[in-house]
Amino acid sequence: MADSVQHWRVSYNDIHNLIRKSTPTIAAQFNPDLLIAIGGGGFFPARVMRTFLREQTTKKALQIQAIGLSLYEPVEGTSEETLGSEVIRTQWLGPESGKLLLGKRNLIVDEVDDTRKTLHYALSELKKDVEAELLSYPEAERDALRSATQFAVFVVHNKLKPKLAELPSGILYFAGEEVGDLWLDYPWEATDIEAHDLLASQDRK
Ligand code: 5GP
Repeated sequence: MADSVQHWRVSYNDIHNLIRKSTPTIAAQFNPDLLIAIGGGGFFPARVMRTFLREQTTKKALQIQAIGLSLYEPVEGTSEETLGSEVIRTQWLGPESGKLLLGKRNLIVDEVDDTRKTLHYALSELKKDVEAELLSYPEAERDALRSATQFAVFVVHNKLKPKLAELPSGILYFAGEEVGDLWLDYPWEATDIEAHDLLASQDRK
């Protein structure tokens, strides 16, 4: 079957440089205490972002926590993927999730915001964990703790297209680069990295 979707290859260096350029704004406007990588595409970006945040803030190396979410099902025989109807949790923060997030500025990191369903799910569920944790505090303390607990999002690429879900209100949103509705081929998906990088440099031209 012919692959009808337009592909855009990105190299490790492209991603590294987009994160380098984005970090000063994130450090100034949000200054995260904790990074939450959405696996698998958010792992490499979160690790690189930690390097630049360390350089630009007075903080020690930030902790990176991981959650695993899956939306796309591979289509047999093609490199394209089709939209699944559900976000599936494959990994979460554990029973202490709310405790971990409470009182912190939590930055969710993923490689790409396509339909926004994954980010919507991640944020809604993490906020639920915070609300559950708040129940163990006296009512008088809850509002202050709730407002001290903040969430923001960083994605390397945001696709400019109609989104199928919205982020909860009050969420700061940072994107390394805005792109059209293309299929992005990431370097960690490539088996031949030299061939991938060659195509990525052609795509850039
Ligand atoms: P969303 O929930 O925003 O539709 O999709 C988010 C997830 O879908 C991403 O974390 C990623 O795993 C996958 N995805 C969406 N668009 C692309 C793309 O262009 N390239 C790749 N490699 N994965 C994508």
